Amino acid sequence: MNLDTAQVPEGRVHVIVERCKECNFCITYCPTDVLVYSEETNAKGYRYPEVAPGKEHSCVLCRFCDLICPELAIFTTDSQQAETPPAEHQGAQADDGQ
Ligand code: SF4
Ligand code: SF4
Repeated sequence: MNLDTAQVPEGRVHVIVERCKECNFCITYCPTDVLVYSEETNAKGYRYPEVAPGKEHSCVLCRFCDLICPELAIFTTDSQQAETPPAEHQGAQADDGQ
């Protein structure tokens, strides 16, 4: 691989706010520390993840948050492509997270 020409993908984070249970997994295990808790809470009283200030271009689209979330409350799409959300997330209302 030519590291001079290799491109790191950039992801866009989507959070389905009302599904989140504030378990912290996505925030703890994101390899680029993209996520922080919101100041707001959802209808059940849980804070939910959002993109940290200054980290708007730091998601590398590893999709680990998507895999690890027990509530299917977060997913990422390629910021360069109009991707369809994963089937398990379709029909749910997702905030942009940014
Ligand atoms: S896809 Fe990876 S880099 Fe992007 S927010 Fe999720 S865990 Fe972090
Ligand atoms: S892993 Fe899922 S449930 Fe846990 S804080 Fe993140 S979005 Fe919320």
